[in-house]
Amino acid sequence: MTTRRIAELLRSGQPEEVVTVQGWVRTKRELKDFAFAEVNDGSCLANLQVVINPDLQNYAEVARKLNTGASVEVAGVLVPSLGRGQRIELKAQSIIVWGEADPETYPLQKKRHSFEFLRTIGHLRSRTNTLSAVFRVRNACANAIHQFFQQRGFLWIHTPIITTSDCEGAGELFNVTSLDLKQVPFTKEQVDYSKDFFGRPTYLTVSGQMEAEIMAMAFGNVYTFGPTFRAENSNTSRHLAEFWMVEPEMAFCDLEGDMDLAEAFLKHIFQTVLESCPEDMEFFNQRIDQSVLETAHNIIDHQFERLTYTEAVAQLEKANRRFEFPVQWGLDLQSEHERYLAEELFKKPVIVTNYPTEIKAFYMRLSEDGKTVRAMDVLAPKIGEIIGGSQREERLDILEQRIRTAGLDPKDYWWYLDLRRYGTVPHAGFGLGFERLVQFMTGMSNIRDVIPFPRTPLSAEL
Ligand code: ATP
Ligand code: MN
Repeated sequence: MTTRRIAELLRSGQPEEVVTVQGWVRTKRELKDFAFAEVNDGSCLANLQVVINPDLQNYAEVARKLNTGASVEVAGVLVPSLGRGQRIELKAQSIIVWGEADPETYPLQKKRHSFEFLRTIGHLRSRTNTLSAVFRVRNACANAIHQFFQQRGFLWIHTPIITTSDCEGAGELFNVTSLDLKQVPFTKEQVDYSKDFFGRPTYLTVSGQMEAEIMAMAFGNVYTFGPTFRAENSNTSRHLAEFWMVEPEMAFCDLEGDMDLAEAFLKHIFQTVLESCPEDMEFFNQRIDQSVLETAHNIIDHQFERLTYTEAVAQLEKANRRFEFPVQWGLDLQSEHERYLAEELFKKPVIVTNYPTEIKAFYMRLSEDGKTVRAMDVLAPKIGEIIGGSQREERLDILEQRIRTAGLDPKDYWWYLDLRRYGTVPHAGFGLGFERLVQFMTGMSNIRDVIPFPRTPLSAEL
């Protein structure tokens, strides 16, 4: 039985008497004639205190082997605890020590370790309080996301990880090849991709959006939830080379509908996670960032601020403070600007819409003014951009023109244009960086600590 399940049974007033628990020892204390071990099985933050009496058949062996990090299986009786702070403990009747952990070398001794240090032991760090809470909350977020879309009849679609199109024509792609890099075949100056696995250049996907648009044109409302890759050399606390993205796409939908969905979506996730992981969220609020719970309630209870890019620029120009990067109509908002808007000015999530055409992707729908596109970014306190979305250009002639202006070849987008040729409809969608959401939810300051195995420039461990 898991420690979490035991706690649930206790709350409902019906603890089973005899249980078996399997987990890892966090600490052990040996007194004169008995021993205590704190066992954690990952199911919840709280450890279960195991009381080991000398009448246990293998007491001497157990007392010797039960060091921090050892794996155990304990069968015993749940009894009210005499100790302070604990309501229940497990009185062991039998204990199996599956695997020992040498106290001389096991790196997770009972003291606080820095997150930097924990990143160097990625194979063990999930056994710490903070990282295990993060990965439980990450799981709860994923669950809430599926729940949100499934309840609304969105189809979960699976888009390819290996693609042939650079979604936005923005570069930052990882090449996928099976060519021998020591003997790359060339035709004149060019790599001869006809000899490569697929007979053409292929990449790891940077977004499933375009494929999601294909599926939305058959099913109405769809979403993707899968890994995404960007070879951008951004060594920041908010960028990974491999991250997970959630991308809903809705047919018969405009930018307002898109914003409404994004707002309802974030509210649902926060609400659900507060309900399903109250202890973990309390832990983050106490140990990581004292504004975590306030932020969560702020999201759930308040309407997001909505303003246009032009209005946002005006606000930034009025702001009585110096920014590192210039503020000027036509330039992209930098993270410091985004954070100023969300964190300081409005103190809640902000949706900025109608960005200048030049700084956004070609597929975003041109506004009536001809200068801006129907884009929207959701900016969150502490994080900056957490969601980026838009209404898509559904008009064939305008889209073709925008592809050309972007320096791309409409021939490469024949299928994307076909969607506008056959049964086109207004449609919209957005992309949410899943790790940014988990960061936002937990208050963890570095994105490397909210994914089990982070990939960043010059770093890919395990
Ligand atoms: P940023 O300006 O922060 O780099 P972006 O404009 O490149 O973001 P989009 O292309 O709009 O981001 O991607 C959609 C979402 O994916 C973003 O809102 C963000 O939450 C997330 N995201 C983008 N790049 C990364 C990354 N390298 N690591 C983790 N999440 C990312
Ligand atoms: Mn980026």
